[in-house]
Amino acid sequence: MKPTCPSCQNKINNRDIKNTNKKGIFFEVECPSCQTWIRLNKTLEIIKAAGISLLLITSLLNIFSIKSEYSLVFSTVGFVGIFIAMLITFFGKHEEIK
Ligand SMILES: [Zn+2]
Repeated sequence: MKPTCPSCQNKINNRDIKNTNKKGIFFEVECPSCQTWIRLNKTLEIIKAAGISLLLITSLLNIFSIKSEYSLVFSTVGFVGIFIAMLITFFGKHEEIK
């Protein structure tokens, strides 16, 4: 994942990031080029967290065979959830923290 800095438009390499900050589910990073703090768009971050939770919940339901008649539905829902989370991780827009 190489986010683009909304401030200086440089691609940010994960290994160049020196400062990070975790606020709940929100993950903030400092741009190594211009020292601006950026984070993933809040709405996207929430959808991403929801997608991951969806996978977790549906996996647990399947592991414990709860409502096993719906296991295919759970698997599909879980897959869609993690797929959306991955899309957001790779293509999600970052924004400056003001
Ligand atoms: Zn920057």
